[in-house]
Amino acid sequence: MDMATVKGDTTSLGELEIDDFGERLRGELIHPGDPNYEQARRVWNGLIDRRPALIARCANVEDVVECVRFARSHQILLSVRGGGHNVSGNAVNDGGLVIDLSRMRNVEVSESDRLARVQGGASWHGVDSETQAVGLATPGGLISATGVAGLTLGGGLGWLRRKWGLSCDNLRSAEVVTAEGEVITASATENADLFWGLRGGGGNLGVVTSFEFELHELGPMLMCAMVNYSAGRGRDALEFFREYAASAPDEVSLIASFWTIPSDPAFPEDTHGQQAILFATCYTGSVDDGEEVLQPLREFDKPLIDISSVLSYTRFQGIFDSDYPPGELYYWKSSYLNVLEDETIGAILDHCAQAPSPQSNVVVWHLGGAISRIAPEDTAYARRNAPYLLSIEGHWTDPRANEDNIRWARQFWTDMQPYAGGIYVNFAGLMEEQQLLARDIFGPNYDRMVELKNKYDPMNLFHMNANVEPTVT
Ligand SMILES: Cc1cc2nc3c(=O)[nH]c(=O)nc-3n(C[C@H](O)[C@H](O)[C@H](O)COP(=O)(O)OP(=O)(O)OC[C@H]3O[C@@H](n4cnc5c(N)ncnc54)[C@H](O)[C@@H]3O)c2cc1C
Repeated sequence: MDMATVKGDTTSLGELEIDDFGERLRGELIHPGDPNYEQARRVWNGLIDRRPALIARCANVEDVVECVRFARSHQILLSVRGGGHNVSGNAVNDGGLVIDLSRMRNVEVSESDRLARVQGGASWHGVDSETQAVGLATPGGLISATGVAGLTLGGGLGWLRRKWGLSCDNLRSAEVVTAEGEVITASATENADLFWGLRGGGGNLGVVTSFEFELHELGPMLMCAMVNYSAGRGRDALEFFREYAASAPDEVSLIASFWTIPSDPAFPEDTHGQQAILFATCYTGSVDDGEEVLQPLREFDKPLIDISSVLSYTRFQGIFDSDYPPGELYYWKSSYLNVLEDETIGAILDHCAQAPSPQSNVVVWHLGGAISRIAPEDTAYARRNAPYLLSIEGHWTDPRANEDNIRWARQFWTDMQPYAGGIYVNFAGLMEEQQLLARDIFGPNYDRMVELKNKYDPMNLFHMNANVEPTVT
């Protein structure tokens, strides 16, 4: 069998060698032509159409070690699949080996220690349901199907971000299979340099087979604001958003999202197809306080639709899932915004009005709070002082519109650069412009990431990510 190598050429492996590798795995080795190959090579973004030579659906850490050693010894192109949600499709590759962690989804909660141990293939749905069963939570993302691994390794922005920080800020330790095929622990006291790099460094440094997160008391019932205004009031709405955010307590992690109300019976018929700006957040405290603090968001103007209500945290975590169905076409870019001045707002509105697809979203995230109370040099995640993040979420269904939608998102992103301060690794398009991208993502922490790459992965085995190239060979 011909397989792609790390260096970009091909190598030939004998059938016996591959059979022998497959037999050493407790999990499954999936080949092209196997009945489940088509399903196994697909990721969430339908734009991605890659054909790996082998997909190893690992059953345990030993399987991951086997895979890394196999890839290393033959210098085979390798990618790691956590939740398979990254828009870039970096979980899969063409012609190489995929370490697929989708069978490793176990979540164990220790209520007394307030810790959750989460395997590398778990999704946030799994974590939230187990932790909320005992009234606890750790910051995740906004969509429940997203993988814990990729999201945490890139930082992790969710509804609890201003109160308890990024997902990676709540990481207490990680079990990592290194490029040498060794299993080590990274924490504040063991391999602390690696622990620094895992918190924001993406998948550059090894395969994380389990994460240990700190948990906090939450809910289960929370006041949740979800209120839509006409996009025609977009300028005033974003100015209001800016004012409200400036004095919002850490219990509020607000987004403002431009979208088009779908023809869904869940929404009044006369709003279908209308462009709207949605304010959404939950209040990370008592329901009574939440009602009071979130009320101004519901009164800024006459809402088009206000579905604010008291919901369980797990329900709120899944409430936007249906807006992001798997298999449709997506291209996302992002920019941290240093300012949200009138000119910035104008630039955002101009581009929103030109979106070629009504399924696309443009989201302004309010950051700060606990995220900014950790120094930028304390973890690989560098952009801690940015007050806002803009995510440009191109989403469409007709492949003939690929070019138009990608062009719109890229042009939007380019035009925002005068107001921007770096890109968020988890919303990084198809990871074009690799080297520039990594420098933009890691900013002042880039050189330290190179040092870690030199130490933990000098061969650059883990390069299907926002790759930091090692400088030793
Ligand atoms: C619908 C949707 C909603 C999202 N919402 C949010 C959000 O609210 N907040 C936010 O911050 N982000 C969000 N994201 C972005 C998300 O954080 C990234 O796409 C993230 O990479 C997804 O993780 P994953 O494990 O599913 O990804 P995958 O595609 O499996 O992997 C992404 C990258 O991480 C690497 N990787 C995966 N697992 C491991 C592992 N165990 N060890 C080492 N490397 C690994 C992969 O090789 C790849 O480079 C969202 C994405 C989608 C599609």
